[in-house]
Amino acid sequence: MNTLERWTTEKSADLYGIDNWGAKYFGINAKGEVVITPLEDKSISVSIPEVIQGIIQRGFDMPVLLRIQNILDAQLTYLHKSFKKAIEELGYNGCYRGVYPIKVNQQKQVLKEVTNFGIENHHGLEAGSKAELIAALAYMKSKEACLICNGYKDEEFIDLALYARQMGFKCFIVVEMPGELDIVIKRSKELGIRPLLGIRIKLSSRAGGHWTESGGDRSIFGLNISQVVHAIDILKREDMLDTMQLLHYHLGSQIPNIRDIRNSVMEACRIYTGLVDEGANMKYLDLGGGLAVDYDGSHTNFSNSRNYSVEEYCADIIESVMSVMDGNEIEHPIIITESGRATVAYYSVLLFNILDTTTFDPQPFLDQLDENKPEVIDNLIEVLHSISLKNIQECFNDAIYYRDELRIKFKHGDINLRERAIGETIFWHIIANIAKNSKNLKHIPKELLDIDSALADIYYGNFSVFQSIPDSWAIDHLFPIMPLQKLNEEPTRYATVADITCDCDGKIDKFIDIHGIKRSILLHELDFSEPYYLGVFLVGAYQETLGDLHNLFGDTNVVSIMVNNDGSYDFTKEIEGDSVQSVLSSVGYNPKSLLGRFRESAEESVKNGKISVKDRYNIVKAYERGLRGYTYYEY
Ligand SMILES: *Cc1c(COP(=O)(O)O)cnc(C)c1O
Repeated sequence: MNTLERWTTEKSADLYGIDNWGAKYFGINAKGEVVITPLEDKSISVSIPEVIQGIIQRGFDMPVLLRIQNILDAQLTYLHKSFKKAIEELGYNGCYRGVYPIKVNQQKQVLKEVTNFGIENHHGLEAGSKAELIAALAYMKSKEACLICNGYKDEEFIDLALYARQMGFKCFIVVEMPGELDIVIKRSKELGIRPLLGIRIKLSSRAGGHWTESGGDRSIFGLNISQVVHAIDILKREDMLDTMQLLHYHLGSQIPNIRDIRNSVMEACRIYTGLVDEGANMKYLDLGGGLAVDYDGSHTNFSNSRNYSVEEYCADIIESVMSVMDGNEIEHPIIITESGRATVAYYSVLLFNILDTTTFDPQPFLDQLDENKPEVIDNLIEVLHSISLKNIQECFNDAIYYRDELRIKFKHGDINLRERAIGETIFWHIIANIAKNSKNLKHIPKELLDIDSALADIYYGNFSVFQSIPDSWAIDHLFPIMPLQKLNEEPTRYATVADITCDCDGKIDKFIDIHGIKRSILLHELDFSEPYYLGVFLVGAYQETLGDLHNLFGDTNVVSIMVNNDGSYDFTKEIEGDSVQSVLSSVGYNPKSLLGRFRESAEESVKNGKISVKDRYNIVKAYERGLRGYTYYEY
């Protein structure tokens, strides 16, 4: 990097890829702050650091999950618009009905906003369990919208779905297991309610990506073709074939390759036409979820990306369905998709502050060398002095060799603690030197590609990976992360980010990159005169409920904002995160009895003369405050 060249916000945008993954919802302003641009008019922007100030003034500490309601609205609208466009352009005769799968983010606020924003387009809900159906029934507004019941269903679940049907909801009971159909038929007869039925099929098509085990012959849910035919026979026999109107499949989430999407649509369409031939009253084709989010902005078929746009997704689906239906002279079905991830991922950002850093800059060592130093130290010094562009790999190999020798000699008692320390320090000088030099190489040897991450600082963030971005820990999922301020200054420190759970897995050491994965991220040098905030973006899908109380770090504070057309914004909702007493309660402690026990213990200390009564008062107060407090680092 030419240091004479001024650093710009454009360079930051490039470095962190914000224009690639931000879907035009996020950008950087002239002051070097990350801004939200959720409206169609992209000149209207809200600075995230400014929002953070507002949050702190309202008495909330970091970490905070920030929800930008407009983005949810915009994503829903975008999906419907894209389908409408494809339908009009291709002359499709059916329409599109989206449903939101509740499991992707079950928070009440999310469900409420989806049903509110979605009302115009009759956006419905998908429930995969009794609890989800019960929530859905209270929040469904439009009777035009679909309510899809998936998942394992007992009699109670089926009864609720039948009642919903009776009330006038377009509530589909999707048969996922061979045994379910019998219960549905029995209960519908007993209650005298004719159901709307769907059938979930196992496709033989499979897709690449993390979450796609739902597809294929061995998938857990859905009927195979022989079971489908058997179900048709049962319905015929019961004179209920007219209730079978919907065909459903779900290939899995985050399908990065459009080819897989197209193949599965084609296969499903064949089955759909087969069901029509069998005399079923088919009207709906439900393609499940899978619409991916481009987390790394690479627009490839890498598992954290997608090689298609939402428009292409819609056009490909409509075109594929049309081609099969027209070929068989079958009326175009109403298309349903169950997009969860793509609907909610963009609208939440995790905000946290950096508490401290550790650097691995090697310390000076010359003044510590003495005359009769061991030979291995001489060898290391020689390596350090001989580094040039031509022999980088050789020096690297030698450095590793002599460092290992140093450690062996120490183990055998041939060199002492101080000598080993000097040796290790010289080793790190060599590595730092190699790292600096290797930047000028045309072809960096494979072994040296990640050398920066070996030297990277650790930035300690006030958050828990396990609570707030569990997929990052569980399945190495990559979320875009970047500083929220100082973006007009050059970031000079290679870093990884650790959380405050004290768990060695509580860290982020893989970062998005257009060309793959980076092992460290460039951050600004900290002087701690002002807070330094990082944002983890696109965390609205799946993270909140999968998060756990590892080390008893609880739910974070949640703050929602709504940006107005004049560029002002409102704090529309604040949800206080878990207090220490509430997370303790969730693992069986009773806060009252904890306090009682602590009081007794303090009384004993008074009796033993360790503390005064006044001390006891203050100590007990501090304990009480601790119980009421936030589980994260507070100021
Ligand atoms: C999880 C799930 C979805 C959501 O998938 P996304 O890829 O998040 O859109 C949709 N349908 C079913 C049946 C699911 O299990």
